Amino acid sequence: MWVGIDDTDSLKGGCTTYVATELVDKLKYDLIGFPRLVRLNPNIPWKTRGNGAIALQIGIGGGKKIEIGEINGRKIYCYSYKRKEANLEEIVSIIDEVVSKNAMKDADPAFVICQKKLPYWIYKKAVKEILSKEEVEKELQEKAFYKYYRKGRGMIGAAAAIAWKPRDRTYELITYGSEKWIDKESVIKMDKSCKSTFNNYDYENDYLAILPKANSPVFYGIRGENFEELKKAKEMLVTAKEERWLIFETNQATDEHLQKKKIKDVKPYESVIVKGIVKKEPHVIKGGHVVFSIYDENEIDCTAYEPTKQFRNIIKQLRKGDEVIVYGGVREKPFTINIEKIEVKRLAEVYEKVENPVCRKCGKHMKSIGKGKGYRCLICGTKADEKDAKYVKVERDIKPGFYEVPVIAMRHLTKPLKRIKKL
Ligand SMILES: [Zn+2]
Repeated sequence: MWVGIDDTDSLKGGCTTYVATELVDKLKYDLIGFPRLVRLNPNIPWKTRGNGAIALQIGIGGGKKIEIGEINGRKIYCYSYKRKEANLEEIVSIIDEVVSKNAMKDADPAFVICQKKLPYWIYKKAVKEILSKEEVEKELQEKAFYKYYRKGRGMIGAAAAIAWKPRDRTYELITYGSEKWIDKESVIKMDKSCKSTFNNYDYENDYLAILPKANSPVFYGIRGENFEELKKAKEMLVTAKEERWLIFETNQATDEHLQKKKIKDVKPYESVIVKGIVKKEPHVIKGGHVVFSIYDENEIDCTAYEPTKQFRNIIKQLRKGDEVIVYGGVREKPFTINIEKIEVKRLAEVYEKVENPVCRKCGKHMKSIGKGKGYRCLICGTKADEKDAKYVKVERDIKPGFYEVPVIAMRHLTKPLKRIKKL
């Protein structure tokens, strides 16, 4: 039996993964495989914070069991296969109780229960585009039991989380607790020694990325490729005692939100990979954001926003004619790509004028007539072209390759370069 839940949190607090731990605790069934934390389209304007939904497969487990957490002093395991199905009526009443009790009052939660996994297109659309609640309800008819509260926007994420098939995956060990002290040095030590973890600490901005950004029952979360190493990483941290912890399998850091597009096909609220040539050179606008444009046959603006910090200094090095591949979410107003990372494929040769042309008759430097209009000798009136001036090739400060935003600005779904290099 698959259970999907979403939208129990609101901007005021709460966390859907905490509701999942409550369910794991209250349901008297085994977990088949890892609980799943599935991030969806990060550009949806009405999302709550991280836009993550939860899916669990429950039943009576068989085969190999793995320790994946501890809740209220009880060790939590997940099993490799399902021996027996769970009882629907029994779990509906428990889930109903847990969701109603734990959802924030201004959230729109929902849960979905089904025997078989839902079709993959539901996930694909929810992570890359905009999926409506109506589309989901239509698909769920006769396939699933579902319940929603208030507007029930959570239906979309709940169904999408069940529909996710992990082609690429990472794990996150999430701890919960009200006492929140943590020793920064131990995080740095862990980051350096646990090589398969990522986004723990931002060295450039002295930022502990394992802590939640907003008010939340979450204490900290360690992300990584390998769930065994996550347990080791947790042991290395010097912190207050957590009240519970659980490892989730997730689509975080997979780039699954991105789609390759031609500029003419780019739509607001999607996340895209677009190849183009720099047209408008980078310039800083109010708020410290850096904007430039690229073109293929069409043109689009790309922006490195202020929260991306040092990344903006890299973007400022781009020059007209550079060939780049931009990765990022599309904003509607202003219509621009919010850059998550960029690959500089080829640098244009940039020349800088060092001297105006010299008049052959008079031996004096000519004067510019106007930008792009050429030169004229002020003594005899002889004219010269732009190309007759003396230029030198500019040494570029940027090299071809991948560049990413610092950890402090990294989105959940964005694949860090650390993972790209490995693949
Ligand atoms: Zn002259």
